[in-house]
Amino acid sequence: MNNKIWLSSPHMGGEEQKYIHEAFNTNWVAPLGPNVNGFEQDLESYLELNTKVACLSSGTAALHLALIMSGVSAGDQVICQSMTFSASANPIVYQGATPIFVDSEPDTWNMSPEFLEEAIKDRMSKGKKPKAIIVVHLYGMPTKMDEIIAVAQKYGITLIEDAAEALGSVYNDQKCGTFGDFGILSFNGNKIITTSGGGALVCKTEKDKAKTVFLATQARDEGPHYQHSEIGYNYRMSNVLAGIGRGQMEVLDKYVALRRQNNQFYKELFKDIKGITVFKEPTEDYFSNHWLTCILVNKEKAGFDREDLRLELLKNNIESRPLWKPMHLQPVFESYPYYGDKVSENLFKKGLCLPSGSNLSSKDKAFIRKTILDFINH
Ligand SMILES: *Cc1c(COP(=O)(O)O)cnc(C)c1O
Repeated sequence: MNNKIWLSSPHMGGEEQKYIHEAFNTNWVAPLGPNVNGFEQDLESYLELNTKVACLSSGTAALHLALIMSGVSAGDQVICQSMTFSASANPIVYQGATPIFVDSEPDTWNMSPEFLEEAIKDRMSKGKKPKAIIVVHLYGMPTKMDEIIAVAQKYGITLIEDAAEALGSVYNDQKCGTFGDFGILSFNGNKIITTSGGGALVCKTEKDKAKTVFLATQARDEGPHYQHSEIGYNYRMSNVLAGIGRGQMEVLDKYVALRRQNNQFYKELFKDIKGITVFKEPTEDYFSNHWLTCILVNKEKAGFDREDLRLELLKNNIESRPLWKPMHLQPVFESYPYYGDKVSENLFKKGLCLPSGSNLSSKDKAFIRKTILDFINH
């Protein structure tokens, strides 16, 4: 049996251990230190636009703090893209707030600006204006940010941009993660770059970054003794792990290029195959990091469905995964309000994510190609 081919596995660039050794040699083995500061500076220069970045223990922690920074508390309502990973929505419930789910639109698979506005109007007519909007660039594909921002501004609602899957993606010449009032990044093991586990909150001001770091380090007031006037969290990033992040930043551009090459590989593979479409950028305004390459399988035209293909790949030790199941269909969230028209439901039924790691070898790709072509021509 061939070695397992993963959807997206960690890919070390080579310099990570240098920074980890520095942390050990200087005894900065703590959730602060030169690697944390260095990684934050690397991210700030990468994202441009004078962003201020606070490195945290996970993307989920970043979302939680983004909600707190946006003033979300118990009883509030927060609008969230339904088609996403559960981590986008869980922190709404941590805050005792109510998630309001909004469907996707077919071009980017991300939040529909029309259903967003419908949701806001309907919530307001029922007596409550949502406190924040969480929009996601799923699989690295930029959301229609112009239209989403226009709706958020029209109603004066804070915009939180979940760019966990979209570091390196660009929309209208601006990097994803920098559009919202707050942006969040993830460095989990499966993301485009990793610190094994980690995340960041992208802020617009030094003041917001300072407040984020304050909350992430147990909200300790100034003074020689421990003094607290707010509830704090232990959400800061470890200096050892930030060392991995500094090494990964050196190869980020290369990894984006490699993921985009994978996408090209799949486009060519499926070019003449009936019933399969590879998800692509709708216009030249969009530049996806193609974190994961996704396809839609039309059973009538292809003669097989998404599950047939997934199980065949699995038999050959190749990991693939259905598109993320929308939150409004999840047992834990299905009782919350939802606005939409089955766009994300249909994507979930037909869609499959394919192995897309920047460490996918030519041998891996040849094996994937052979497995898929053998299956289709059986
Ligand atoms: C991975 C992910 C997160 C959560 O990030 P963690 O670092 O794993 O906590 C949030 N949103 C999306 C869309 C993700 O893919």
